[in-house]
Amino acid sequence: MKLTKIILYEEPTVQEIQISKISSFISDMFSIEVEHRKNFLSHADERIFENISNTRILDLKNQFKKYFPTEEDIQIEKENRDTSNEKEIALYDGFEMQKTFAEFIPVDEKTDNILHVVFTNKTTCTFDQDDYRYHARALIASNPAIISTTGMIEAPAKPKQYYLDLMTCFSESEVKEINEKYKGQFLKQHDSRLHKIAEGYLIQGIMYYETGEAFCKDRECRLFNAHWQKDLFYCQIEKRSFCKEHAKILDELNN
Ligand SMILES: [Zn+2]
Repeated sequence: MKLTKIILYEEPTVQEIQISKISSFISDMFSIEVEHRKNFLSHADERIFENISNTRILDLKNQFKKYFPTEEDIQIEKENRDTSNEKEIALYDGFEMQKTFAEFIPVDEKTDNILHVVFTNKTTCTFDQDDYRYHARALIASNPAIISTTGMIEAPAKPKQYYLDLMTCFSESEVKEINEKYKGQFLKQHDSRLHKIAEGYLIQGIMYYETGEAFCKDRECRLFNAHWQKDLFYCQIEKRSFCKEHAKILDELNN
């Protein structure tokens, strides 16, 4: 393995995931040192808040343009306020955010053998050249990697029929009814299942760093790139295992 150490950073607003448990899970799996740090932002200086604000997306249908934040926006970042439940969810460009985090990693820790992973509940998105718009992402791989809980909730699609049912809703009570009907079929904020799913994305981030490939085509494998919530539950909660090929690669990495 290229890696000798992984540092997991936690934003205080990410509550559904117990990073200390994830930390021991990963050190058992890869037998390398895993360090858990409470807050990425507390290691940086004041500029980081403005720089993170700068990565907000203004226009979903156009490539990234630098956002000039208001004092209020910067304050939101400083206080690490949870904006994920607000009406207008702030969206961030994942690659721009990654660059921002990279700037604040101490020089002596910017080495190939250390992977930095930031857990956030900010909604990270990437611009897709195929359909010319932004899409939410749960994992922004590379180093530092970003894993977003809101990305896990928003990126893989909910059942098709759910969207169709919603289109025929005319009142808030009807929307409530529909949400009740599909309860449990997709992730929500503060969902306890986020923890196990985060493990899967972290393994994908580590695999990407080690092999250049994060995903697998096999739905039975934890590296499966799930486009549907039901597939995410299947590979990360029900199966929790690897396909033959990836089990072998994992074995080789550990030897
Ligand atoms: Zn696989």
